[in-house]
Amino acid sequence: MKTFESFNFNGKKALVRVDFNVPLDERFHITDTMRIDAAIPTIMKILKDGGSVILMSHLGRPKEGPAEKFSLKHLLPYLKEKTGTEVLFANDCIGEEAKQLSANLKGGQILLLENLRFYKQEEKGDEEFASKLASLGDVYVNDAFGTAHRAHASTAIIARFFPENKMFGYIMENEVKSIDKVLKNAESPFTAILGGAKVSGKIEIINNLIGKVDNLLIGGGMMFTFIKALGGEVGSSLVEEDLLQLARETSDKAEANNVRLYIPQDTIIADAFSNDAARSESKSTHIPEGWMGLDIGPEAIRAYREVILNSKTILWNGPMGVFEMPHFEAGTKAIAEAVAEATQKGAFSLIGGGDSVAAINKYNLKDKVSYVSTGGGAMLEYIEGKELPGVAAIKK
Ligand code: AMP
Repeated sequence: MKTFESFNFNGKKALVRVDFNVPLDERFHITDTMRIDAAIPTIMKILKDGGSVILMSHLGRPKEGPAEKFSLKHLLPYLKEKTGTEVLFANDCIGEEAKQLSANLKGGQILLLENLRFYKQEEKGDEEFASKLASLGDVYVNDAFGTAHRAHASTAIIARFFPENKMFGYIMENEVKSIDKVLKNAESPFTAILGGAKVSGKIEIINNLIGKVDNLLIGGGMMFTFIKALGGEVGSSLVEEDLLQLARETSDKAEANNVRLYIPQDTIIADAFSNDAARSESKSTHIPEGWMGLDIGPEAIRAYREVILNSKTILWNGPMGVFEMPHFEAGTKAIAEAVAEATQKGAFSLIGGGDSVAAINKYNLKDKVSYVSTGGGAMLEYIEGKELPGVAAIKK
């Protein structure tokens, strides 16, 4: 496998799959540029080498072919500003115009192709469509970790046309390296912190992590399914009744594998799902009728903090409570701070999944943890132990 850093792009046309699926407001202004910003180092390295860049991406979920609101042309002014280079645009990602523009592309130039998902062949992983895209460049670079779990034409199928010249860009390389470090080379003690709303979204992750981790800290809405499964009373907290048996089995499996499964001793309870609801503290196993747990309690924070500070590897996915509401954010905030503190002490910490990333950003701790994964769904599937088509296509 070629590495991006050592490849010399001089005189080459690099076809780069990026994830420019950014949010736009009603006047088509970008409201969060993080995904574009993240791809800039990859683009600049190719230009600096003397190569040219052909950018391919999707934007939103267009249903029926081209639509103004999903056009990538809205990104042109920002891309020009960030790269300091003029950016050409092809109104169709395949066809004559794209062919002409790419054929005439000179070293140091950038061409952005129109939204790939204006063709349904993209998501279907159509080989002929992939071959048309492939014909535009000499080298294929995949830097779109956010779509790496999809076997789409531009994320996986296209790699077949570049058996010798395919590689990850910087984002993909960092994502894969960071997650592999945690899943394959974790230094012990290894602690996984799992929260979020539901067990159902996390059960495969938990199963894959048992056998790898030393400690599993459970929080968020999903803790109540475990507490009820183990005989506790959870009032009107979020519970997935159909998963009680599975939660029991998971708990047994953890014990059999010498994994310490932590469930919060205490809980911040509320009489309604609202920031203004009446609040109280309760033992997690004795939540009164009509009350629901919306955050982990101070005892749990203390216990979790200690485990986190004694860890050498930390994986965190999912908030500890309803952190969007100020009255129920203390648990998530304290855990975020403990992860940052452990990182300063030398632990490797990986944060992933939409809401834990939002939490880390909310508390301004992004630069105090080792790695924040940008690929929500892709990251979760990777930690579930699944092979990601976008990663496999480059590695094979
Ligand atoms: P997920 O997408 O599964 O990671 O879930 C994230 C969501 O879980 C956030 O929006 C939180 O507000 C929510 N959440 C966390 N703790 C609880 C809880 N105790 N009860 C209900 N929802 C929760």
